[in-house]
Amino acid sequence: MDVWHIKDIKTQLENRNIATGREAISLAKWVFDDVLNLKEGQLVIQEKYLLLKNTLERLEAGEPVQYIAGHAWFFGYSFLVNQHVLIPRPETEELVDWILRDVKKQLNRLIRILDVGTGSGCIAITLKKELGENCEVVAIDISTQALSVAQQNSLILEAEVEFLEMDFLQTDGDFGMPFDIIVSNPPYVGRNLISAEMQAMLRYEPPIALYPEGQDVDIFYRRISELRGKLLSPEGSCYIELNEFRKEQIHTLFESNRWKNLEIRNDLQGFPRMLKAKSE
Ligand code: GLN
Repeated sequence: MDVWHIKDIKTQLENRNIATGREAISLAKWVFDDVLNLKEGQLVIQEKYLLLKNTLERLEAGEPVQYIAGHAWFFGYSFLVNQHVLIPRPETEELVDWILRDVKKQLNRLIRILDVGTGSGCIAITLKKELGENCEVVAIDISTQALSVAQQNSLILEAEVEFLEMDFLQTDGDFGMPFDIIVSNPPYVGRNLISAEMQAMLRYEPPIALYPEGQDVDIFYRRISELRGKLLSPEGSCYIELNEFRKEQIHTLFESNRWKNLEIRNDLQGFPRMLKAKSE
């Protein structure tokens, strides 16, 4: 029996042109720790050879390591992921961080939060974990399979969230009571507006979570902005992840629906990625 080390996996990744340099180190760690479930210095049993071979083939084909490992990290929490949900992105952590910084300034009352298009549940569950009893979270999605992943995550992470299966584009915005916060990372990628290379990179992720159906790439922003008075309390705020190419159009949309105090922030990569707007 052999003993494997992370650096051996790194060499294999580099030899197969799957990754180089720092990216190869971080990928090798994922494969070693999360896919092969190994510890440094551990003796490797036969079946790990097959698992490594299969993993390298999947990575070579372009599959994200998070789908192979079956989980992804978000805000320090481990979320189950599969092909029915988007892999949580670091820029979405930035959106959650923005909300938490704002909310923690006013923790003297119960805050009702709506997450539109929850996917793996990463936003809704993280907010519940971080805010606890101070908030009530409702999370909606059109996909039964995505909601099943989100439900499992909420059980594993012990975060109580109310999940509802619904098509947000068909809702009239009446949820019984208005929310204090709406958050969303909706499908916003224009299928015909991105390069073939980009499309290929996204091919393992669920199209329903990435590409809005039809011609209107801003449809989710449009609908959220139109439902301002119905979804939100007068003091309420909306935080959404932006399509980095459509900052002006989305800003105009929110302005024309009479949202106040619009603020756009760049993500760590320097792209305009988040918008906050106040209801009144
Ligand atoms: N940020 C993601 C990407 O470009 C897309 C997320 C989304 O459509 N909500 O890969």
